[in-house]
Amino acid sequence: MTELPIRKDLVGKSPYGAPQIAVPVRLNTNENPFGPSPELVAELAKAVSELGPNLNRYPDRDATELRADLANYLNTESQVSLAADNIWPANGSNEVMQQLLQLFGGPDKSLVAFDPTYSMYEDYCRNTFTKYLSVARNEDFTIDKSVLDSALALHPDIIVLTSPNNPTGTIIDMSDIDYLLANFPGVVVVDEAYAEFRPAGTPSAVSRLAKNPRLVVVRTMSKAFSYAGARVGYAATSSEIVQAIQLVRLPYHLSTVTQAVARVALRFSDELQGQVTLLRKERDDLASWLKEQGFEVAPSGANFLLFGTFGDRNQVWEQLVEQGVLIRQTGPSGWLRVSIGTPEENQAFKTALLQVTNRTNGK
Ligand SMILES: *Cc1c(COP(=O)(O)O)cnc(C)c1O
Repeated sequence: MTELPIRKDLVGKSPYGAPQIAVPVRLNTNENPFGPSPELVAELAKAVSELGPNLNRYPDRDATELRADLANYLNTESQVSLAADNIWPANGSNEVMQQLLQLFGGPDKSLVAFDPTYSMYEDYCRNTFTKYLSVARNEDFTIDKSVLDSALALHPDIIVLTSPNNPTGTIIDMSDIDYLLANFPGVVVVDEAYAEFRPAGTPSAVSRLAKNPRLVVVRTMSKAFSYAGARVGYAATSSEIVQAIQLVRLPYHLSTVTQAVARVALRFSDELQGQVTLLRKERDDLASWLKEQGFEVAPSGANFLLFGTFGDRNQVWEQLVEQGVLIRQTGPSGWLRVSIGTPEENQAFKTALLQVTNRTNGK
């Protein structure tokens, strides 16, 4: 094979990606297990057929209507008062994050994240020549002021807090986010991909936007909204940052189709909230069950659970795949992550796990 003249730091690297294996029960990428309802699908079809005749034109570069709808959604969801110019949408929150790194990162800049966490942060840094640094969370995966102080001591330009965190599910206390906002002069990014699954009464970092122009809260429609396939994520931040992101975004980055289908889903947010409530309950029930079986389970405010620990997690993972259940090997060694599925899928997971680990219920 000929060697391609690619960037030196990319030689020998493998692309990000969970295995996509066609088994009956797929609980590996934290998707919402419920697809859009027939009513939503009908509205999608209508919206796409209406815009079809205008697809010869470029999309609204500023996604004005979608941004207004997203602001309304957040205002209701988190009792804030944001406007369209506080919102910046892109093709998944992954693209938003990469744009933020293109804007605030670069060869002389650094970012700190808190391990174990989402592995993509390191990739965004690599792609934008930003130095990636990490600070370990406490043993129980929490973050507190001493952990934050270790991050501050590295004098980074950007700090990313993930709450609820992936793959641990851990929620960061708002008092710790406030501590960071008060003591860090750089850009604070709070990745709230799983925010809708947080326990009732837990505040969102969007409640801190009004007073902190260097705070960016990143959200997505991939998880709670059952819309991973549509690729829509967004930042909620100051209008100054929204303006600045436009320096690095590709022209017309968000297609007319994406903008329209996102707006349709937002009209159905009440219906989707019902599923979120059910998934939260399934999560809490599954966590209790796992503990009853003697597993360790990290407290989760997301739509997945990190559990363990296993001497050979790869073997457990492989045997679950043989039983038709796909979960994820991620996080510290010995732990596995399972996404919350439908009640039937969760039951299939339990049955398969008991089989694989030779435990009998009640023992
Ligand atoms: C799933 C996930 C995302 C979402 O990415 P999209 O590009 O919006 O699909 C972002 N951050 C974390 C931590 C995630 O787990």
